[in-house]
Amino acid sequence: MISFFSRWRRARTLQRYAIPETLWQEALTALPFLADWPKSELEALRTMSVLFLCDKNIVGARGFAVTPFQRVVVAVQACIPVLKLGLEWYDDFETVVLCSDEFITNTEWEDEDGVVHRDNEPLMGETMQGGPVVLSWPDALDANRERDSDEYEDNSVLETWEGNASPVNVVIHEFVHKLDMKNGEANGCPPLSSNLLMARWKQTMEHAYDDFCRRTEAEEDIGIDPYATEHPAEFFAVLSEVFFVAPARLRETYPDVYECFRLFYRWGPT
Ligand SMILES: [Zn+2]
Repeated sequence: MISFFSRWRRARTLQRYAIPETLWQEALTALPFLADWPKSELEALRTMSVLFLCDKNIVGARGFAVTPFQRVVVAVQACIPVLKLGLEWYDDFETVVLCSDEFITNTEWEDEDGVVHRDNEPLMGETMQGGPVVLSWPDALDANRERDSDEYEDNSVLETWEGNASPVNVVIHEFVHKLDMKNGEANGCPPLSSNLLMARWKQTMEHAYDDFCRRTEAEEDIGIDPYATEHPAEFFAVLSEVFFVAPARLRETYPDVYECFRLFYRWGPT
C-alpha cells in the first residue's frame, strides 16, 4: 500500500525535479528507437527517469564531468527494463559510474583448472552484484548503433562472424544483468512471478540458446549480436536489447522468447 506521505513525496519530487521539455526532446532525439513507442509508455518513462535520477547517483569516473543531458540519456535507458516492474528492482545499488570511454577493470578470475586469468579487454559496461553499474559514455549514447564483426577480433568464435549487424544497447544490457542478479549470480533467469512462467522460461531460453549457438557456429546470418553465445546470462541481456530496440527482429527470430519476455517485462514493444 502506498501511504499518503509517499504519494505526496512522489508528487513533490516529480514536480521539483521534472526533466525540462528541451532536455527531454534532446534525449528522445538521441534515442531514435523510442520514436516507435506509444505516448503513454514514453510519459511513464519520463516520470520514472525523474525518480531514478533522484534515487541514484550518476558519477563520472576520474574527473569525468557528467552533464544533465548525459544523466537523462542514461536514466531513460536504465528505466526501460523496469518500466512496468518498478524501480524497486534496482534497490540494491545507488551508483552509476560513467566513464569518458571504454574502460579496463583488471578483474581476476579462476577457471575450472584453478588457473587465474586477468581480464584486461576494454569494456563498454559492467555490472557488479549489489554494487554499481559502470558505463562508457560514448557507448551509452550510441544507443541503437549496429554492432559489426570487426569488434570481435580477439574471440575465435566471433572473429569469423560476418552476419547482419545487430541492434545493441549497452545501458539496457547492463541493467538487465541487474534484474538477472536479483536472485543470485547472473544465470539468464531473473526472479519470475510464477512457477509456471519459470518452467516455461527455462525451457524456452535453453532451447533458444542452444539453437542460437548452433546457428552462430554455422555462421548463419541471424542479425543478433553473437556475443549472446558467451553465456546464458549474456543471451538474456543481448536478446533483451533486441526486445526493446528492435522488437520485430526478436519476434520473427524467436517468437517464444519474445512472448516470455513480454510476460516478464509485463509489456512488449512492437
Ligand atoms: Zn553482459
